[in-house]
Amino acid sequence: MADRIHITTAIHYSNGPPHLGHAYEDIAADAYARHLRRKPGGSKLTFVTGTDEHGQKNRDAAAKENLDPKAFADKISAIFRTAFDRLEISYTNFVRTTDPAHEAFVQKMLARTFERGDIYFRDYEGLYCVGCERFYTDKELLPGNICPEHNQPVEFLKESNYFLKLEKYRAAIRAHLESTPGFIRPERYRNEALRMFDEPLADLCISRPKARLDWGIELPFDDKFVTYVWYDAFWAYLSELPDTSDAALAEVLPATEHFIGKDILKTHAVYWPAMLMAVGLPLYRRLNVHGYLTTGGSRMSKSSGNVVDPMELAEHLGPDVLRYFVLREFGYGLDGDFSEARVIERYNADLANDLGNLTSRVLAMTARYFNGEIQAQPGTHQSEHGPGVDYYCQQVRALSDRIEQLIDALEFNRALEAIWQVLDAANKYIVAAAPFTLAKDPANLPRVGEILVNLCEGLRVIADSLEAFMPATSRKILDLLNVDQTTAHAPFGEGLKRGHRVKPPVPLFPRIEKPNA
Ligand SMILES: [Zn+2]
Repeated sequence: MADRIHITTAIHYSNGPPHLGHAYEDIAADAYARHLRRKPGGSKLTFVTGTDEHGQKNRDAAAKENLDPKAFADKISAIFRTAFDRLEISYTNFVRTTDPAHEAFVQKMLARTFERGDIYFRDYEGLYCVGCERFYTDKELLPGNICPEHNQPVEFLKESNYFLKLEKYRAAIRAHLESTPGFIRPERYRNEALRMFDEPLADLCISRPKARLDWGIELPFDDKFVTYVWYDAFWAYLSELPDTSDAALAEVLPATEHFIGKDILKTHAVYWPAMLMAVGLPLYRRLNVHGYLTTGGSRMSKSSGNVVDPMELAEHLGPDVLRYFVLREFGYGLDGDFSEARVIERYNADLANDLGNLTSRVLAMTARYFNGEIQAQPGTHQSEHGPGVDYYCQQVRALSDRIEQLIDALEFNRALEAIWQVLDAANKYIVAAAPFTLAKDPANLPRVGEILVNLCEGLRVIADSLEAFMPATSRKILDLLNVDQTTAHAPFGEGLKRGHRVKPPVPLFPRIEKPNA
């Protein structure tokens, strides 16, 4: 792997507070970022998230609250940032498209594109969706001129504007997509994107006359116009990195992985590559596309009113429970249906029973029989511990390689399944080895000590593996095991040492009784 890694989420449209879909995207990108940070060069990883604050929808939302657009953006952006901090999203840059540094960067790119002749002025009339903030062709719309994303009629619009040449780059982008497997993941989205290049591309309108919309970034070559939304927000992926010289960006872009929802596949597969080509920069490395989260079968969106407030859930159950649930329950790239009942089910079964109980049993026995002191080296004397131990040790040893492959492939749910298989093997090992029965005879205590060190050491590996998914829980268990960072990451058998002391258990996930039960 290259020693430069750059991760981004979409720059979230800030016309309302975050819903679960936003949280899901940032949680997935964060799990991936945390995973990559452990690889060589990972300490240099950069991770951008942020808010897209210009455009008509934002201005309209501000007007509804009698705020000027900037004051409204300040308020919503702060809510996003607080939510992402609470969810422990490990971004390195939280970019706001109203930041002066971002605006200056967009103007620089606009000026360069204009000088190179890829932006031109013309009269235009067409069908425009305010929700999407873009023009549609007849073919893209549903019968009756309905926007397929918003299920609302588009409006007819006639005005002179600036356009970015897209058709000029169609063949080059298409060739890149065709020759680069994995450029868009999962694969079916690459196939979907390829079909977008079958026909000539309509050039992209990138401006609004200030007379109609002034809430944008002024064009450097015409002060009567602004740019906003698509031409504006994409540059936020790069605009506030420590070094935005061409030389630096030529290294960053081939190491850039975007996390986006499938609703903005077209803009990222077509517009964004064309914008980069038009300024002479290389294309990004990869687009990682996720599906929609629905509730009760219909898509979660501000306009449909079925929004799950992720922060309410996170406050109620803990941010890690939300992180665990969305990564475990939904396959990345597929749509998923969210229900609170299912969250409670998973909480009780996976977190309270499997993870919580194992942690408290192992630490409680170590405290009771040995005053918390580790009695032996883990992974030794295995044959004496009965049939469960070989299988258990083998499972723990294989875990980190297995997880690495699965997260690389964005299979977060299967990576968590792999961790839970190890939890299951540990629980079976306890049952088979029965340390609590053995301990009744003091002559057996050395053997009990060996069983418990194998279990404590396995718990350490499990806690370390959970860091990408549930950072707070991982820290809590590692703290109970009383280990430092280096010991936390050690392979199985090389972590806990004889004489080390672990702490007595504290409840991690108290069971939730079902309401009305
Ligand atoms: Zn629309």
